[in-house]
Amino acid sequence: MAGIVVVGAGQAGAALVARLRAEGYGGPLTLIGDEGVPPYQRPPLSKKYLLGEMPLERLFLRPESFYAEAGIDLRLGCTVEGIDRAARRLHLVGGDALDYDQLALCTGSEPRRLPAAMGGALERVLVVRRLRDIDALSPLMRPGARVLIVGGGYIGLEAAAVLRLSGLEVTLIEAAPRILGRVAAVETADAIRALHLRHGVDLREGVGLSRLEGTDGHVRAAHLADGTVLAVDFVVAGIGVTPGDALAAGAGLALDNGIAVDAQGRTSDPAIWAAGDCASFPYQGARIRLESVQNAIDQAEAVARNMLGAGADYVPLPWFWSDQYDLKLQIAGLNTGYDRVVVRQSGAALSHWYFKGARLLAVDALNDPRAFMLAKRLLEAGRSPDPALVADPATDLKALL
Ligand code: FAD
Repeated sequence: MAGIVVVGAGQAGAALVARLRAEGYGGPLTLIGDEGVPPYQRPPLSKKYLLGEMPLERLFLRPESFYAEAGIDLRLGCTVEGIDRAARRLHLVGGDALDYDQLALCTGSEPRRLPAAMGGALERVLVVRRLRDIDALSPLMRPGARVLIVGGGYIGLEAAAVLRLSGLEVTLIEAAPRILGRVAAVETADAIRALHLRHGVDLREGVGLSRLEGTDGHVRAAHLADGTVLAVDFVVAGIGVTPGDALAAGAGLALDNGIAVDAQGRTSDPAIWAAGDCASFPYQGARIRLESVQNAIDQAEAVARNMLGAGADYVPLPWFWSDQYDLKLQIAGLNTGYDRVVVRQSGAALSHWYFKGARLLAVDALNDPRAFMLAKRLLEAGRSPDPALVADPATDLKALL
C-alpha cells in the first residue's frame, strides 16, 4: 500500500494531513514541501513578523515533532517535479520517485513578479510570500531607507504600514484608479487611503510603473508612467499571485483559473485532489478560487474527509482580515456582484455592508469586531437585514439576528 501523499507543506497541506489522522486514517501518509521549514502561517509575514514582533517559532502551525508523532513522513526541502498518473508515481527533484494511492495537491500560489524587461530581475526588487523573502527584506529595513511598493492590494498596503512604522520613506503606487479596486468598495478604500496618508505614506493612485533602473545590478530608481523618477533603495512588488498549478498542468489535469476541482475537491483524475490557493471550485453557479487561510484550512479538511469517502460538498463561509497600523479590518462573505454599500458608523466602529438587491453578500468591519461577528452569523444563516436598520447607528445589531 502506497498510501496518501500530499504535495505542498503550507496552510492547506498541514491541515489536510492532520485531518486525515484525526478522522482515523492509519495508512502511510507523506507531506512534501519544497521550503526548508515546517508548515507555517503566511499572514504575519506582512504584519507582526515583518515588524519584528513575532518570533519564528510562532509562525509554525505545529511543532515539527507533531508530524513524527502522528506518523506523518514530513519531507522538507523536497520538490515534486512530475506526476506519472498512469503509474501513480511522483518524480522528485534529485531523481527519487514516490508512489501514491491517492494524491492531494496543495501547491498554493506564486507571487507575480515585475517583468525582467522592466527591471524586475534587479537585486532588491522583492516580493512577500515566503520566509526567505522576509530574510531578504529585513536587512533593508533601515529607518530613512526609500522603498517603492508597487500595488495597492492588501499585501502591498500591509507592507507599506509595517515599513512606515519602521521609519522608512514609503511610496506606494497603484496603476488602477484606486487602491483595493479588485477586492473592496470605494468606502473601504477611502478609509484605508486616509489611514496611510495620515501615517505619511506617499500614496499615488492611477500611476503605473514604466521601468526600474539599476547600477551594479541593484535597483536605484523607478520611472513612473507619469514621467516622475523616484530614487529608491529597494522595491516591493505586491501585484497579486498566480495559482500554483504547474505540476497539475504538466500532468494534464484540467485547469480553470487554477486546478479545477469538483465540489468535493477532486480533480479531473479521481485519484488526485486539490485544496487551497491552487484550486478553483464550483460555487453558486460559477467557479471561484480563494486566497485565504480560512479557505485553505476548511477546503483541505473537506478534502481529507472526502478522500476517506465522506462524499460531502465543500461550502465556503469566507472570511478574511488585514492589519494596518491600528486598523483591524475583518471581512465576512464575498462581495462579488454587489450593487449597493450601506455604511454603518457608531463611534469609532465602522462597517460597510455589501448588498445585491435585498441580499446581504459581505461586510467589511473596520475596528468593529461586533459588526463582523454578527455579519458572519447573518451570512451563515443566509439572512439579509433591512439596509435602513443597518445604517441606523441606534439599531442594536443583535436584534437583526
Ligand atoms: P501555501 O501556504 O502557499 O503553501 C503551498 C506550499 O506548497 C508552499 O510552501 C510551496 O512552496 C509548496 N509547493 C508548491 N509547489 C511544490 C512542489 N512542486 N513540490 C513541493 N512543494 C511545493 N490570508 C488570510 O486569510 N488573511 C490574511 O491576513 C492573509 N495575509 C497574507 C499575507 C501574506 C504576506 C501572504 C503571502 C498571504 C496572506 N494570506 C492571508 C493568504 C494565505 O496565507 C494563503 O491563502 C494560504 O497560505 C494558502 O495556503 P495554501 O496551503 O494553499 O498555500
